[in-house]
Amino acid sequence: MQLRVRALESILTEKGYVDPKALDLLIETYEVKVGPHNGARVVAKAWTDPEYRKWLLTEGGAAIASLGYIGRQGENMVVLENTPKLHNMVVCTLCSCYPWPVLGLPPVWYKSAPYRSQAVSNPRKVLADFQVTLPEGMEIRVWDSTAEIRYLVLPMRPAGTDGWSAEQLERLVTRDSMIGTGLPLRPQDIAS
Ligand code: FE
Repeated sequence: MQLRVRALESILTEKGYVDPKALDLLIETYEVKVGPHNGARVVAKAWTDPEYRKWLLTEGGAAIASLGYIGRQGENMVVLENTPKLHNMVVCTLCSCYPWPVLGLPPVWYKSAPYRSQAVSNPRKVLADFQVTLPEGMEIRVWDSTAEIRYLVLPMRPAGTDGWSAEQLERLVTRDSMIGTGLPLRPQDIAS
């Protein structure tokens, strides 16, 4: 696959269709600047700022854009709130639609056939594969991303974090907790 991509890039460059410098910039942007740390900032702000949280849940796109996270594959954002009774999980059954501006590029498993097919038919099994066990009665709602709508999960704020600043809380927000295949870290997980 890598060889094929490189060959394709060479041909397109030779023919003048792409500028290698522009490609490098694009890749660097998604490797360094854009990533789950963006989403973590959104989540931590929602955990500490009730007004922002309300805005985020009603107008996800605008609230996220207000922090400067805008761009391709994030035009139409819907934020899903996890509660003690409801766990949200995101998939793209068709391909790999993903909220790039807040999470960066999708992980390989997100694009894999097993995840895409099982997330809907057997979400508890998928969560078990991710070492996530939810309480018996908790409802799991699976959301299918499309080219039009991208989802971000707002996980529950971990216990034992009273008085924490948004900057401190950001460290608890994992990528998977914003897809719904994981939970945020607990304070004891990052204690050094
Ligand atoms: Fe897709």
